[in-house]
Amino acid sequence: MGASFVDEIFQAFATRGGDFYGENVTQLEHALQCARLACEEDAGDNLVAAALLHDYGHLFEGRGDAAEQLGRDARHEAHGARMLRRWFGPEVTGPIALHVAAKRYLCAAEAGYEEALSSASRLSLALQGGRFTLVQCRHFEARTFAGAAIWLRRWDDMGKAAELKTPGLNDYRAVLQRAAKA
Ligand code: FE
Ligand code: FE
Repeated sequence: MGASFVDEIFQAFATRGGDFYGENVTQLEHALQCARLACEEDAGDNLVAAALLHDYGHLFEGRGDAAEQLGRDARHEAHGARMLRRWFGPEVTGPIALHVAAKRYLCAAEAGYEEALSSASRLSLALQGGRFTLVQCRHFEARTFAGAAIWLRRWDDMGKAAELKTPGLNDYRAVLQRAAKA
């Protein structure tokens, strides 16, 4: 696959990446922070790509804060994963599709997790259906990419630091090419 798909992805960040993520950071800063955290854990190309692109769906009209402020959940995780399936396999899109489910799971399964969420994350949690029931937790645990989605969620929760320095988007060009479908 040529480099053009990377340019298309970067174009979306150029257009909408300056939007606020609902906290102290922009969408682009949040993506870059999550990717850096994944790199620091030697997560591998697929998960680094997933970390960088997990909120790709937020970059499209009506999928971000604007929708949440109207009191509806735009399902950005499903929308982003669906768009990214053109270029990436399930190792990348699976954890992305599950990163909201991972939050709902951790709220139920891990003491103190929900209380530690950022205010924007707690607000969206309610719109996303709240913490999982026991039955929903068992379903989640059985999903192929549940473990990867939980890793992704940890970086997601940490990648909201106001002043954290990160490499730029261009530093991930090769990672995205290696993670892409053949
Ligand atoms: Fe998200
Ligand atoms: Fe996020």
